[in-house]
Amino acid sequence: MTSPVIVWFRHDFRLADNAALSAAVETGAPLLCIYILDDDVEETAAYWWLGRALELFNIRLQECGGALHVFKGPANRVLPSITAATKAKEVFWNRRYDPAGKEIDTKLKAELKASGTPAHSFAGALLHEPWTIRTQAGQPYHVFGAYWRAACKTGHERPSLPAPKTITFATLPATDLPPMIDAGTISQKMRQIGWTKGLEDEWCPDETSAHMALEAFLDGSLDDYAHERDMPAQPATSRLSPFLSSGHITPAQIREAAVARSHSDGLTKFMAELGWRDFAWSVLFGCPDLATRNLRPEFDAMPWQHNPKGLRAWQRGQTGYPLVDAGMRQLWQTGWMHNRVRMVAASFLVKHLLIDWREGERWFAHTLVDYDPASNGMNWQWVAGTGIDAAPFFRMMNPLIQSRKFDSSGTYIRTWVPELARLSDTQIHTPWQVGGVAGYPSPIIEHEVARERALSAWQALRGTASGDYNAQD
Ligand SMILES: Cc1cc2nc3c(=O)[nH]c(=O)nc-3n(C[C@H](O)[C@H](O)[C@H](O)COP(=O)(O)OP(=O)(O)OC[C@H]3O[C@@H](n4cnc5c(N)ncnc54)[C@H](O)[C@@H]3O)c2cc1C
Repeated sequence: MTSPVIVWFRHDFRLADNAALSAAVETGAPLLCIYILDDDVEETAAYWWLGRALELFNIRLQECGGALHVFKGPANRVLPSITAATKAKEVFWNRRYDPAGKEIDTKLKAELKASGTPAHSFAGALLHEPWTIRTQAGQPYHVFGAYWRAACKTGHERPSLPAPKTITFATLPATDLPPMIDAGTISQKMRQIGWTKGLEDEWCPDETSAHMALEAFLDGSLDDYAHERDMPAQPATSRLSPFLSSGHITPAQIREAAVARSHSDGLTKFMAELGWRDFAWSVLFGCPDLATRNLRPEFDAMPWQHNPKGLRAWQRGQTGYPLVDAGMRQLWQTGWMHNRVRMVAASFLVKHLLIDWREGERWFAHTLVDYDPASNGMNWQWVAGTGIDAAPFFRMMNPLIQSRKFDSSGTYIRTWVPELARLSDTQIHTPWQVGGVAGYPSPIIEHEVARERALSAWQALRGTASGDYNAQD
């Protein structure tokens, strides 16, 4: 029997533009396609997504004549056991950049090489790998604008790869393999949880759906993206984030398709958003504890409030601020929230409720289908003012101004907070001004009270009265 080569899939459930897969096919050896589940499955939206992605990717590989073999256990033990049991010649994977994954991969690469089974790793998940965009002094950038200008100047635009025309698959040996589970196991388990129905209705985590979402966006929204992207009621953004997180599509594929279609302001803005994603990974690369440590240490002394009731109201979309509640309910039901509303809802938690941003980071990690440790950590620290290139803490987003500006007719609010549907376009932003609406809470904190409290806390932290305290938008 010819020795196989192994393709270890991680966040790259695709056949096209998959450099590891293409390189493995080029060896001419039969392929063993594997996934290693090395964590306990948690009841989160991201695990729901992963479960469906494994199930559907297995079906896709079966259509090509193969299968996705899912192993369970720590990768540093499981992978060497598989290579030994299958007498694999080489291992191929696409690089990941999260601190834990990076450490495992580095060690495994050395270990596999020493045991005579070389491992080859490839780029694909980002436009630019985290260590490639550096200042002239060789340091990471701390400001997005400078980072993105430098990135755009490199001219290193990796062309995307086509899917392999044919793949020859190896069969698994019957013995000596580490524990395995069926590719549909996680999905079946997640289906038993009550709250995944909304996710099932909203998303199909596979490569085809990713490209359909891309095409719909390019046809319908790209040219207006710069002007419409902040309007949560419009289908103006790509909704590609979960597909990017799981690698059903790559930024290189998106860039190529977008550039071929448009030269508008929309394209420039859209590419910059993909740039923010790369920037987030470069920040995480330099700051592995991005999700848990204030990047500006002066915030370690911030008097965050212990307010479980407020946190619960925020999580459940019961704050009494319609735009915040609409966003939090969209998140709970669909696993996704519009970016503008993410900013408003996050700001409300941190500044109005003065709850530690890490509580919000954890809730988003639990509920987002597009959760990734880089974008989530960086954006939370951006909103909280504790991070790199962050909005200053004193810049409080006023949920009423935001609501009137970005959802002026209340269409988004009506969709997610149906109790308020009968209010007029003016009333819907401030239901308490019409005496309240049965079944919908009064604001859990008054805006002015919250603002004064947040600014005093910040002022005490700084020990100075300087700063643009009136800034709010
Ligand atoms: C508090 C907070 C937490 C967030 N957590 C996540 C997260 O866990 N995962 C995640 O993918 N995004 C996160 N974002 C960023 C952003 O909200 C989403 O990427 C975006 O809403 C996804 O929708 P879209 O695909 O339609 O975006 P589009 O507007 O179509 O943008 C295209 C792509 O650019 C990237 N992008 C856009 N905005 C950002 C941004 N601010 N930061 C990084 N990348 C960006 C995404 O990959 C997105 O798919 C967070 C934002 C905030 C304010």
